[in-house]
Amino acid sequence: MQKSLGPSGAHQRDGRSIGPRPLLQSLLRGAHLKCPACGTGALFRRYLKVADHCPHCGEALYHHRADDAPAYFTIVVVGHVVVSLVLVVEMTFRPPLWLHCAIWLPLTVILALTVLPRIKGALVALQWALLMHGFDPDYEEEIGDRLAPPSA
Ligand SMILES: [Zn+2]
Repeated sequence: MQKSLGPSGAHQRDGRSIGPRPLLQSLLRGAHLKCPACGTGALFRRYLKVADHCPHCGEALYHHRADDAPAYFTIVVVGHVVVSLVLVVEMTFRPPLWLHCAIWLPLTVILALTVLPRIKGALVALQWALLMHGFDPDYEEEIGDRLAPPSA
């Protein structure tokens, strides 16, 4: 294992910061699409593609395993918001069906595309803060079914 001082001055071991990882701060940084370690570098290199390393502090971010969780939580959040609004508008104004479609379909798409990267960022930051998967500085990389040999 190699200890180093990251580009931003954060103490790192093999690209993983070894300092404290406050949960709420990490979640907020991830939800703002920023690196959970420094809060400055971009978490994503494209719309939903997490950067391998933070461009500011060098924190290794490729250890995340968000999988389908961001899509699941996005459906839960957007579904609750949109269905609630649909019910309130229907009960209050009783608009025609075409107006419902004209309002709610675009709103659902826009909300989902807006919320999805924020939820994914928060989930990646949660994994980072809880030292899940390879985010733990003491984690040994696995090669196949055996542990990697210790580096000098
Ligand atoms: Zn960073």
